[in-house]
Amino acid sequence: FNEKLSNPQKTIEVIQKYEFTFQKKFGQNFLIDSHVLNKIIASADITKDDFVLEIGPGIGTMTQYLAEAAGHVLAVEIDKTLIPILHETLASYDNVEVINEDVLKLDICKIVKEKNGGKPVKVVANLPYYITTPIIMGLLESHVPVESITVMVQKEVAMRMQAGPGTKDYGALSLAVQYYCEPYIAANVPPNCFMPRPKVGSTVIRLTRYSEPPVATENEQLMFRLIRASFNQRRKTLANGLNNAPDLHYTKEQIAQAIEALGVSASIRGEALTLQQFAKLADILAKQ
Ligand code: SAM
Repeated sequence: FNEKLSNPQKTIEVIQKYEFTFQKKFGQNFLIDSHVLNKIIASADITKDDFVLEIGPGIGTMTQYLAEAAGHVLAVEIDKTLIPILHETLASYDNVEVINEDVLKLDICKIVKEKNGGKPVKVVANLPYYITTPIIMGLLESHVPVESITVMVQKEVAMRMQAGPGTKDYGALSLAVQYYCEPYIAANVPPNCFMPRPKVGSTVIRLTRYSEPPVATENEQLMFRLIRASFNQRRKTLANGLNNAPDLHYTKEQIAQAIEALGVSASIRGEALTLQQFAKLADILAKQ
């Protein structure tokens, strides 16, 4: 397999040779389009100085592009039937390491420290869509040193990541992503660029990690609890959402006072608050 895998013929050839069967439960939709791959590599801004973590290499289609652009690639694949395939398709690259693990069970922080001396890595992936949110939240919330995360996700999820207050896509994911990173939509990708074709449209989004969050709060944990409580009950007011949250223990009066101190209407809905306002609300309530 000296040629690149990024076309339907090569992909079919590999799959047939190994009698590989696609597993729906692993979200397997392999890229078969070289333009899309070049676009992902360019958006991720990979250079020979970079250590790249790839989640879910599949048969190694994107890994080949990453290996050519990066200094080192660590690829984590859950499906053990893909491992012998990857050994063959990546045989000519000496800067790629494949490990057979579930990325959600892996201590990425520890691995990155071991393998890259704790220096920040770039994450690049065509993600398995069934676990997009846990993967992204895990990378953001744990202290994995990452410079950027460039990922193919379901279009609708990309919209949620970059949505602002008052829009239908705005929610806990938008706020978490935007607290840690600056999102940038790099490309929309139609189903025919994958094998098999997914039922939904896809988007490449780059999340560039801030060195400091864009808003300051003394109690990050409380802020995220407030955010979750506000969006758990979308149609309710902010006050009701906070009153009903099992992990918040403020009285009705304390909540009403805090909302007043924030300087917004008592009947405001959580979905109208900006990240700055959630940060301020957390600081107000933390003092109660
Ligand atoms: N990178 C390949 C490409 O672009 O053609 C494959 C992308 S495919 C959408 C997602 C890949 O993630 C599959 O290879 C799948 O087996 C793998 N995967 C699914 N769940 C995983 C998990 N929990 N940990 C690691 N890899 C996983």
